[in-house]
Amino acid sequence: MDEMQKVIIIGGGIAGKLAARVLSEFYNEVIILERDHETKRPIARKGAPQGLHLHALLFAGQYGLEELFPGITEDFYNSGAVRINSTKELAWFHHGVWKLRYDGNFTTTLQTRPQLEWKITQYIKNFSNITIHYNQTVKNFLYNPDENRMTGVEIMDGSGRKTTLEAALVVDASGAGSLSSSWLKKQGLHIPEEKVKIDLTYVSQLVQLNENQSRDWSIKMVYPNPPKEKIGGTLSKVEGNRHIVTISGYHNVINDQEVLKNHNGMLNLARRLPKPDIYDELRDAAPLTKPAIYRIPHIIWRRMDKVKKLPDGLLLLGDTLCRIDPVFGQGMSIAILEALALRKLLRKQKTLGQKWTAVFYKHAAKIIAPIWNMVITEDFRFPDTIGKKPMGLSLQQWYAKQIFLLSSQNQRIYHSFVKVMNLIQPMTILMYPKIIGAVLKRALFK
Ligand SMILES: Cc1cc2nc3c(=O)[nH]c(=O)nc-3n(C[C@H](O)[C@H](O)[C@H](O)COP(=O)(O)OP(=O)(O)OC[C@H]3O[C@@H](n4cnc5c(N)ncnc54)[C@H](O)[C@@H]3O)c2cc1C
Repeated sequence: MDEMQKVIIIGGGIAGKLAARVLSEFYNEVIILERDHETKRPIARKGAPQGLHLHALLFAGQYGLEELFPGITEDFYNSGAVRINSTKELAWFHHGVWKLRYDGNFTTTLQTRPQLEWKITQYIKNFSNITIHYNQTVKNFLYNPDENRMTGVEIMDGSGRKTTLEAALVVDASGAGSLSSSWLKKQGLHIPEEKVKIDLTYVSQLVQLNENQSRDWSIKMVYPNPPKEKIGGTLSKVEGNRHIVTISGYHNVINDQEVLKNHNGMLNLARRLPKPDIYDELRDAAPLTKPAIYRIPHIIWRRMDKVKKLPDGLLLLGDTLCRIDPVFGQGMSIAILEALALRKLLRKQKTLGQKWTAVFYKHAAKIIAPIWNMVITEDFRFPDTIGKKPMGLSLQQWYAKQIFLLSSQNQRIYHSFVKVMNLIQPMTILMYPKIIGAVLKRALFK
């Protein structure tokens, strides 16, 4: 590949670090600019406050991380992450029924998001051409209008000093609040956006469960049966013999200020879940942290794949490109799949034509589209959800509901669903004739 000079990555979150890992194979120098200061141990950062909330890593993300950083999965376990049998140790109440429990021969890794991200940072340090510059906030882009090309960024450091930095490629991985879309709009470029209003509130806390009680699960999920129920919760083992409890509610059903004010706020919230299991555990548990709140008013997919005349040398990744509903635990896995797609694309190119970012967005859209569709099909079960509905929504919702219900009785169907949900198989496997047959039989003879 020709003229592979310097890359700047805005944001040292998960998407930024994964992009750095991949681009280090193709560029001489990769610089990550991160506005947070460096953390000396795995703790949640101000710039990624979602780190205080449960972060599940789906199979696709787990396998992808291992591909990018061989050995990292074992390293997670060496640092205390919990290895579980995915279908046996998950107790999941969903749409009014408990899913089957069986040994499906899949492994899931449970740990906090700060620990996961910390490990990735340690692996990144092994790449001699990647550097992370902390306390550096990117304020603006440097742009050459004659060539319609990004040439670098303007930065402000922790003491307010401003500088500029030039590069052949600028990657924006600064998350949902990134400056790219407003900057592109200012240049007169229309970025089509798919935006769905969900008004989701997350409340999470680390707890120590009563050790005298025996449990046959490592993660328990109690999800709502929409549209009537809007609150769901998860209690998951994490490193350090602790558990994290996360309770989320759509359309502002959670009054987060009340949760914070009230000494029993978290317990009162758990009492509102469709099943008492999590409440019963929390009653006997010791809180290790204060409840943390995160609000997600809407999810958004910036359709860069539909924009013509994009500036060369600018690439959007991760939550900057698409912020998905976190209840389904897909955001990190999407970032990992995008990083793998980027590597595949760059490996194929002998020389990087100027338009390769446009090709990348087409690949990214293929990753995001089915996930987006799956997520909004669920989000639109709530009448207050606002946005563009997908075609055939009612049929999709009906079919998905049959799959959810059959997952409590039919191991083969649940097994297929687990693979789809974990993004290692396409949705179409749920439309095999035998599965359609079981769905119709259930609908006709239930
Ligand atoms: C409550 C919640 C729960 C979630 N649960 C899950 C889950 O269970 N499983 C899952 O896979 N995903 C989950 N996600 C999604 C996941 O957190 C993100 O998809 C993932 O972290 C990818 O993020 P990112 O790197 O694109 O952005 P971010 O994590 O937001 O990182 C952006 C980085 O850019 C930095 N930055 C921002 N602006 C600038 C600037 N101007 N200059 C320099 N640096 C800047 C920030 O400090 C930050 O470090 C959840 C999200 C939320 C909100």
